Amino acid sequence: MIVAEQKPMEEIAEMIKDFNKILILGCGGCVSVCLSGGEKEVGIMASALKMFVKNNQNRDIEIKEMTISRQCDWEYFDMVKDAMAEVEACVCIGCGAGVQGLVDVYPNVPIFPGLNTGGLAVGKVPGVWEERCAGCGNCILHLTGGLCPIARCSKHILNGPCGGSEKGMCEVDPKTIECVWHLIYERLKSIGKLDNIYKIMPMKDWSTSSDGGVRHLTREDMAKLDAEEEHKKNVELEKKAEEAEAAAKSQG
Ligand code: SF4
Ligand code: SF4
Repeated sequence: MIVAEQKPMEEIAEMIKDFNKILILGCGGCVSVCLSGGEKEVGIMASALKMFVKNNQNRDIEIKEMTISRQCDWEYFDMVKDAMAEVEACVCIGCGAGVQGLVDVYPNVPIFPGLNTGGLAVGKVPGVWEERCAGCGNCILHLTGGLCPIARCSKHILNGPCGGSEKGMCEVDPKTIECVWHLIYERLKSIGKLDNIYKIMPMKDWSTSSDGGVRHLTREDMAKLDAEEEHKKNVELEKKAEEAEAAAKSQG
């Protein structure tokens, strides 16, 4: 899931310093699972922000609280239409995609990020999430025993381990960072695929990563259905217009 953490209150208060009516909008998806942007956090942030602004900016603000099921789907943005019309600005505590989805739908409302979005992670123990995927768009986990060197190697190297691997730990911080290439070695050994480690991995095709400009994921079958639906609607509208024209002519 996508993990994120709340920005410091000082930073959020600074963003909204010119506004008195604010909507804090939470997301019921990933960020509620990692306890940073769900309904409960919206309530806590609303109280904390009001208090912070009162104490540090010497003014009262009005805060509306709302949480939608997901901030990564257009259909849910419509649900906040009335609330958006009543406020001067919105603090979004969804991930960065949520903030930008809202900006697309509400171009006249200032939308501020209340969270710092991290990466794609799994929960290790309660309250601790560790990055597992950097969304490179061209997965190579089948070659590395299911462990990702792009997200988990400090140098993102594809043919590891490097000379800084010692006793299973990474030289970048030997106390806390496991060398993923050591883990890959152990994993390949345990599944009888150790020969993989001796194969030189070719240079990765990064054109599928974010360096190649904004990425899109398109399900052609769904897009086709939408287009067909749209076409049907247009045909019906044209038919109705023709019927209306014919009726008007016959009356006139
Ligand atoms: S190889 Fe790419 S897609 Fe696969 S887990 Fe790593 S970053 Fe994610
Ligand atoms: S020690 Fe391991 S994890 Fe650290 S940079 Fe080298 S290969 Fe990557």
